[in-house]
Amino acid sequence: MIASLSAEQQDLLEKSERQTQVVQALNACLPAHALLWHNEDTTPYECDGLSAYRQRPLVVALPETEAQVQAVLRVCHVLGVPVVARGAGTGLSGGAMPHRLGVTLSLAKFNKIIRIDARSRSAQVQCGVRNLAISEAAAPHGLYYAPDPSSQIACTIGGNVAENAGGVHCLKYGLTLHNILKVRGFTMEGDAVEFGGEALDTAGLDLLSIVIGSEGMLAVTTEVTVKLVPKPQLARCIMASFDDIRKAGDAVAGVIAAGIIPAGLEMMDKPMTAAVEDYVHAGYDLSASAILLCESDGTPEEVEEEIGRMSAVLRQHGASAIAVSKDEAERLKFWSGRKNAFPASGRISPDYMCMDSTIPRKRLADILIAISEMEKKYGLRCCNVFHAGDGNLHPLILFDANDPDQLHRCELFGADILETSVAMGGTVTGEHGVGIEKLNSMCVQFSAEENEQMFGVKRAFDTKGLLNPGKVIPTPQRCAEYGKMLVRGGRLKFAELERF
Ligand SMILES: Cc1cc2nc3c(=O)[nH]c(=O)nc-3n(C[C@H](O)[C@H](O)[C@H](O)COP(=O)(O)OP(=O)(O)OC[C@H]3O[C@@H](n4cnc5c(N)ncnc54)[C@H](O)[C@@H]3O)c2cc1C
Repeated sequence: MIASLSAEQQDLLEKSERQTQVVQALNACLPAHALLWHNEDTTPYECDGLSAYRQRPLVVALPETEAQVQAVLRVCHVLGVPVVARGAGTGLSGGAMPHRLGVTLSLAKFNKIIRIDARSRSAQVQCGVRNLAISEAAAPHGLYYAPDPSSQIACTIGGNVAENAGGVHCLKYGLTLHNILKVRGFTMEGDAVEFGGEALDTAGLDLLSIVIGSEGMLAVTTEVTVKLVPKPQLARCIMASFDDIRKAGDAVAGVIAAGIIPAGLEMMDKPMTAAVEDYVHAGYDLSASAILLCESDGTPEEVEEEIGRMSAVLRQHGASAIAVSKDEAERLKFWSGRKNAFPASGRISPDYMCMDSTIPRKRLADILIAISEMEKKYGLRCCNVFHAGDGNLHPLILFDANDPDQLHRCELFGADILETSVAMGGTVTGEHGVGIEKLNSMCVQFSAEENEQMFGVKRAFDTKGLLNPGKVIPTPQRCAEYGKMLVRGGRLKFAELERF
């Protein structure tokens, strides 16, 4: 400690000394090109898709082999250095946001498809393989990997496993959790671990289910074995228009209540369809208050029968227009709008924040009405796109991150949506994870005891608490402070990491 230095200077000095120590130690186990620490090199890693919050890491490590991953983890464990695993950085909840005194462990170089096994309908891939690349590799066998996040062109299977990612077709085919056989990786101490196996079930506790969705807090994944499913012979999509969002919400519940499990069941409100139509010209009905996309896949006979049943339910619930895709090109056109909802929002606003909560399907209209009231309360616009069949909301709050007041109002708006979802019987996260974004709202969803049990699971894997610390599970102090703020009618800024 040098007495004449300000606190800020002292902090910078300590950070620089720590950086030198970590770089020296990691130099012994990684080639020089696999280590980045100069500001201009680490800047691209300072945020994920939650780009309003940024933090430069101390060091970025880019290992190429499992032995190097193991060595990095062992060094960091001994030195007590936090490690944040990173796939493609498309996460929307700040899960891959660096730790200021930590190593960002990029798995980008783990991009090999090891084996496609058509007989067992599985693929063994390295963790940095892109989601879509698995389906592309499996296509010659008539197979594909079903979970299809809209970011599938970029996001990695390691990131999908960490977030338990979903997508428009997960209603029928399940989330990541339902499509993974085995995960292989390393604990923070550098011990090799495997969860699950080649068979459908494994002996002992189902630790695979604990690791999937654990947001990089329990282990670093290096390899994943996924299930593949046969490509359906045919898929067709209905685009249904509604002049009232309540009718559209009720129609979603009606389709499921009729015993139909569509391959996809998505909803967009009027502001969203307007933004999308302007961008990709998907042929959406701009006069509708809401539109639904309902997909059926299977044999031609199954599809024809299901499209008929779904159309009937949609009409019963007041659909004002129904269009059914005539061919594959038109089906893809319908979906191109939905898949481009996020970039379309980026075109009409300097920034957007995508919230992600779930509610019981029957409350879809209620939450939309509540969100439109919040638009007035917080003075910000919001476009809504939903995995409606799953009751998974994606309100996109439009704001300007350069205006601190707008950013703060956006945070309050987002937290209000999450907590209103809980009040309606839902959850604060659907598929994007908690990261840093939903830490405060986790205090509303879970009791102090429940959060402590989650910390207990973390400690069982990561005794020193070094793997992605400060994310996902709120500390008791944070929840106490947040509780006081809520009583006073306010909310704590969600990105206040340092204080708690
Ligand atoms: C335009 C857009 C659309 C999206 N649409 C969807 C959608 O439809 N459905 C959906 O679920 N999500 C969606 N997302 C969110 C995001 O793409 C997913 O959460 C995805 O799973 C993140 O993968 P990634 O490789 O980018 O991971 P990152 O963002 O790099 O990391 C995400 C988390 O996983 C951890 N992690 C990453 N790799 C590993 C590893 N190898 N071992 C251990 N931990 C690891 C990180 O520490 C972090 O906590 C979307 C994002 C964008 C930008």
